[in-house]
Amino acid sequence: MQREAIAWSASATTGAIALADGLLSGDLENGLLDCRLNPAGKFRNGAARWWCVPHQCYWGVKADLMRGDGRCRAAAAPLRVALDPPLLEVGAVASLTLHQGALRVQGDGLDLVVPALALAAAGLFDNPAITRLNVTPPALAALAHADGCVDCARCGHPHLDLGAFATRAHRRHTCGHCGHDSTHSSAAMVSNPLYILRGRIAFAWRPV
Ligand SMILES: [Zn+2]
Ligand SMILES: [Zn+2]
Ligand SMILES: [Zn+2]
Repeated sequence: MQREAIAWSASATTGAIALADGLLSGDLENGLLDCRLNPAGKFRNGAARWWCVPHQCYWGVKADLMRGDGRCRAAAAPLRVALDPPLLEVGAVASLTLHQGALRVQGDGLDLVVPALALAAAGLFDNPAITRLNVTPPALAALAHADGCVDCARCGHPHLDLGAFATRAHRRHTCGHCGHDSTHSSAAMVSNPLYILRGRIAFAWRPV
């Protein structure tokens, strides 16, 4: 069953938050998402490689083929899932604050604490397929270290650095949307799609 939802992992180091729609499928109440495999070139040994978008890992090594169920190695690990998250216009949001592991969003007549939320993003990015930006606690936390936003050289989706990648500037980036692992930024950097909204939304990492 497909449903409006946002999923994220506290431990993932790559993430895709700029999306064409907000639909996820799987056993969402329990954080178990169906795999969605995108072609992602080849492994070093020449075998075809796929990228599982919901679980943020490659598929196609021998162990994956031997499992025989088409699921990736990360499919059994539950993710955090926010069902039916609010979808807000960027103009309606004055501030977004990381608040006790959740997000506090404030604007004109608006003051909510939610696990995650989506911003309407049509026209915000060069890639016209992107209509929403899913804001999750790890993505907002990683913004503290970001100094720009680089697009994937293959699919054009803006790149999100999480975990260790968010604390160490680097030039070579792995796309969370398509798994392409050879996008090079012109200088070492930490990338975050939320970076482009800094002038329009006040982002904060501590309760104000
Ligand atoms: Zn998967
Ligand atoms: Zn990166
Ligand atoms: Zn990509």
